[in-house]
Amino acid sequence: MIFCDTHCDTVYALTVRPGMPTDVTLERLEKAGVSLQTLALYVGASPKKADIVRLFDRMFKTFLGLTAAGWRQAMDPREAREGEVRVMLSIEGCEILEDSLESIALWRQRGVRMAAITWNYENGLATPAKVDSTTGLKPYGRQAIREMARLGIAPDTSHLNERGFWDILEMGVVPLASHSCCRALCGHQRNLTDEQLKALFRAGGYVGLNFYPWFLSDDGKCTLDTLADHVIHMLDLGGEGYIGFGSDFDGIEEKVPGLDNPLDVPALIETLQRRGVTGDILSGIAGKNLLAYYDRFDPR
Ligand SMILES: [Zn+2]
Repeated sequence: MIFCDTHCDTVYALTVRPGMPTDVTLERLEKAGVSLQTLALYVGASPKKADIVRLFDRMFKTFLGLTAAGWRQAMDPREAREGEVRVMLSIEGCEILEDSLESIALWRQRGVRMAAITWNYENGLATPAKVDSTTGLKPYGRQAIREMARLGIAPDTSHLNERGFWDILEMGVVPLASHSCCRALCGHQRNLTDEQLKALFRAGGYVGLNFYPWFLSDDGKCTLDTLADHVIHMLDLGGEGYIGFGSDFDGIEEKVPGLDNPLDVPALIETLQRRGVTGDILSGIAGKNLLAYYDRFDPR
């Protein structure tokens, strides 16, 4: 089975807490049979531009260190193969892309294939769900998203507010949400409403389910079955073929019991099977659906 994960903060963790253990390690990815792990370059704890620029430089160096140590970079998600681990870069918070369209091409060259338009700060492109739900994309945000689509960088709507989400779809660009859950099952502002999910699935988008307990249930009390509830809810809304996993490992300080790191993914797969999610639907969720999204988004 090809297994893909569209979000973790391991590069950030290794950069700001060097020497500390991480959830995601190459050994664990190999043991768990992960084919494609997306590694986010995350905007960080300071909204100051100079800090962000410095942090991105440091994180990219960390990433180069990983590839020098044997982590194999995928420049395209469709390089994913069963039994081989590849890692792919993403951006979480487009502050680093807000000054020029040329910067988008630079990061594409470095291998970035998805970019969350915002993290929790308003930036030159858009406004996050954390700030408000009604401010739409900024003019430069529209330009940047067109350029991303042209270059094969998937706009990622996790953290983006609702109006921005609808603006992207109305532009005719089909985004993904790399690490988001269902608002109907957990009321967090950053989760996707049923209307958003239905529209995303109809358009041929993609959602990677986040493993963070506070995005899965209002009281933060979760089991593997809670994740299965979200998967089944998305399937009920037309999500077959359009969903997968966006663990958020190394970015979440609390875990669903029994889902601590990539080694626990087989237990999640077993839970889904027990809940009746099997066959092609399950192998799609595990990884193939992400590759199919890129076939639609960036046909080669
Ligand atoms: Zn995030």
